[in-house]
Amino acid sequence: MKQDAELRAALLRAIGEVIAGHAEELTSLDQAIGDGDHGINMKRGFEAVMGDAAALTSKPWPDFLKAVGMTLVMKVGGASGPLFGTLFMTLGKELPPEPRAGDVVKALRAAIVAVQARGKSEAGQKTMLDVLIPVAEQLEAGNLSLDQLKEKALGSAEATKPLRAIRGRASFLGDRSIGHVDPGARSSALMIGAVVDVLKEVA
Ligand code: ADP
Ligand code: MG
Repeated sequence: MKQDAELRAALLRAIGEVIAGHAEELTSLDQAIGDGDHGINMKRGFEAVMGDAAALTSKPWPDFLKAVGMTLVMKVGGASGPLFGTLFMTLGKELPPEPRAGDVVKALRAAIVAVQARGKSEAGQKTMLDVLIPVAEQLEAGNLSLDQLKEKALGSAEATKPLRAIRGRASFLGDRSIGHVDPGARSSALMIGAVVDVLKEVA
């Protein structure tokens, strides 16, 4: 299982780095249609996760993911903390200790359903779901190509630009939310891209 612990560590490192490297971008996206804290929130959350990385990555996949989710709930804050926390915690609840690709696809859908329940939100409302759902759909359609997954995630975040926000702080702006990429969609895409980059190295 040492191999798996190394994979967990590599995944955390990659996500932590991409969030830290794009914190300013996420903040400026949130300045346009929110309160400008998304970059700081996410960076704080993943710094806390990274600070505990050795203890976290020594846990098997389900406990690892649950613990990451709990840290995100506590440390990210805002609307996105509980939502990303729910995403990771549900992945942990759904995955078996030795997950296969099919398990991951199913767990991702369950995690999205949990985020939707928590956020009372659905596709098309200019949120993180507008990245998570298209990525899940692509996987469910049997397309497990890592390159295409990353492309789908990044493209779906970009595609939130013309949408009008219906959920979250950006919804207060009504039509003025149109023309900006949703910060949570962008951070979701960055995280998925980081996961893909790591998986490509081990694949
Ligand atoms: P806050 O809006 O409280 O300042 P953040 O700035 O950290 O929190 O996160 C904002 C992001 O959270 C949005 O860009 C959006 O993607 C996501 N979000 C907000 N509300 C919801 C919701 N109800 N369902 C899904 N995602 C949401
Ligand atoms: Mg915000």
